[in-house]
Amino acid sequence: MEKPGGGGVNQARIRQGPSRGYVLVITGAGISAESGIPTFRGDDGYWTIGSVNYRPEELGTLRKFQEVPWDIWRWYLHRRQVCEKAMPNPAHHRLVEWESRWGERFHLVTQNVDGLHRQAGQRNLFESHGNLQMMRCSQHCLPRTWPIPSSAKVGCGDLELKTLLACPNCGAAARPHLLWFDESYNEEHYRWSSAQNIARKAGLVVTIGTSGVATLPSRLSSLAKSCGAVLVDINPEQNPLSRQAQASGGAHLACGAGEGLERLEKILQG
Ligand code: NAD
Repeated sequence: MEKPGGGGVNQARIRQGPSRGYVLVITGAGISAESGIPTFRGDDGYWTIGSVNYRPEELGTLRKFQEVPWDIWRWYLHRRQVCEKAMPNPAHHRLVEWESRWGERFHLVTQNVDGLHRQAGQRNLFESHGNLQMMRCSQHCLPRTWPIPSSAKVGCGDLELKTLLACPNCGAAARPHLLWFDESYNEEHYRWSSAQNIARKAGLVVTIGTSGVATLPSRLSSLAKSCGAVLVDINPEQNPLSRQAQASGGAHLACGAGEGLERLEKILQG
């Protein structure tokens, strides 16, 4: 953690990062906490409603979808409704400004499925865990994704959902466009190889609001660090990502996403 007054932050090294390579930002649930969307470990029903006997790790799986597709759909439709009420916050908007500043040299990889980065206007974006607003054919007959109809709601019956959530090409059930716990990252849907290539060319990597439980942030940060990037972690709590950021000669900014990005902006501006 940085010392009071920012004494522990290597400002000069961080400032040099963008001139050495890409600026790569990796976001997790914490950035959307400031928009009112609970994080993974939040104790407020977001992840548990309708699933008293199960943990998200059991429900968010291909295996469970194959067993009880319409129950799993309802669980996701509830989460989609929560996300639809949320708006992008100043941290999301700051990252859109960064994209304007650095253009093609700026990349954002998010684990979030809430679509708030896109809603804020981010274009150079990899949604590495998918998007709660989109679906795709569960039988892979079409390579593309398409929006989930707004008429599909938690209260719909199985038959209604079956009609609304069918693949328009083959008629099989569509599935949420999400990376499930029993699936692996891939390039086709989640741009995993592209994200790793960007990490190798990064000069500055900023992780925001992620506990690092999923493999993506730690894998990309480690890769970037081994190629010489400086890392900054923004998170009110300390975790392996913040320790790795300090080890890279960067910093752990121990605060919320909005405040952390404001402080980092000041460091970068000198
Ligand atoms: P996580 O819930 O495991 O960790 C959230 C992290 O955010 C914690 O380390 C916490 O200290 C930090 N945090 C809390 N408030 C913050 C704030 N105001 N500013 C900055 N950081 C803050 O989340 P994760 O690491 O992203 O992994 C969870 C998984 O669940 C991911 O796969 C993600 O796709 C999914 N998820 C997505 C959403 C979403 O789309 N909004 C929400 C919850 C979970």
